[in-house]
Amino acid sequence: MAAEQKSRFTVTRNSQAVAANERAVLLEDPGFGRIFTDHMVTIRYTDGQGWHSHKVEPRKPFEMDPACAVLHYAQEIFEGMKAYRLGDGRIAMFRPEENARRFTVSAERMAMPILPEDLFLEACTELARIDGDWIPGGEGTLYLRPFMFASETFLGVRPAKEYIFCVIASPAGAYFKGGKKAVTLWVSEHFTRAARGGTGAAKCGGNYAASLVAQSEAIDNGCDQVVFLDAAENKWVEELGGMNVFFVMEDGSIITPPLTGTILPGITRDSVIRLARAKGHDVREEPYSFAQWRADAGSGRLREAFACGTAAVVTPIGTVKSASGDFTIGNGDGGIVTEGLRAELTGIQRGTVADPAGWVYTL
Ligand SMILES: *Cc1c(COP(=O)(O)O)cnc(C)c1O
Repeated sequence: MAAEQKSRFTVTRNSQAVAANERAVLLEDPGFGRIFTDHMVTIRYTDGQGWHSHKVEPRKPFEMDPACAVLHYAQEIFEGMKAYRLGDGRIAMFRPEENARRFTVSAERMAMPILPEDLFLEACTELARIDGDWIPGGEGTLYLRPFMFASETFLGVRPAKEYIFCVIASPAGAYFKGGKKAVTLWVSEHFTRAARGGTGAAKCGGNYAASLVAQSEAIDNGCDQVVFLDAAENKWVEELGGMNVFFVMEDGSIITPPLTGTILPGITRDSVIRLARAKGHDVREEPYSFAQWRADAGSGRLREAFACGTAAVVTPIGTVKSASGDFTIGNGDGGIVTEGLRAELTGIQRGTVADPAGWVYTL
């Protein structure tokens, strides 16, 4: 293939790739994050030398020394994006340039080297192409997971001098069990996710490690996901462990928490804001308190609430539970604004709705 010759990558095909019939069985019910494709992309970084050894190669474990820096000080960042097939058979991704840009921002915050954004895109494109047969049919997608970690063997506390950038891919079905059914959230009133000046706006593994105990508390309380309040006042709604949150009021206005450095700037969040404004909604990025949320749900001023992110796109929030009591939003089953935004966003992604902003990136 001409593309393989032009590319900066050395391509080694997996001679033990999963057979087509076996792959078809796996793709019938892929779930999320448990099945992986035949290849991966790796690029290495060494201080003084920069990025080198660009490879598309058979997926395999890393060999790492027990003193590998990431295992001790968690210098790691990642991205999450989807590749899928359009009606005409082309492979597409949604706003991947934004993932590349955010990867740069995350790297800067974590004192890691900057991967050129065109190289990030090329790496994702190479993997989506070589493993294109792993894109599930129907509503399924191939979830791409680019990530970078400190690979130097060294226990001193300072930014590492060696890194590995890698992209793996995992076929995915519906993210939440039960598809777009409304989710129940648990409000964590003592665990927080991010504080001012911290790493809340960086997509780093450490943020997730810090959120897991609260997520477990949510599951123990019969909820699907945790929603975090701010660390300073324990008052303002921030976001879920891996999704941003929106509130739809009775006058059609929409509120979402502002990006003050403690919230991850979701690409779905940004897309929803733009789509809602284009539909004529007054979208305000302003603080919204847990107390107000409860009061507005009770009075009916709040009509709908939803969470959004790449994996689940737009998901209605039905019931909210906390140690201080539960409440339900609207009829507990989403609403027309949430459904309209979800349908429009997924329609743009799939090429069935006009894409005036050029968000769909085809390979
Ligand atoms: C990735 C992520 C999101 C959603 O971002 P998208 O770009 O929309 O996928 C929201 N919150 C957190 C904490 C995240 O890590």
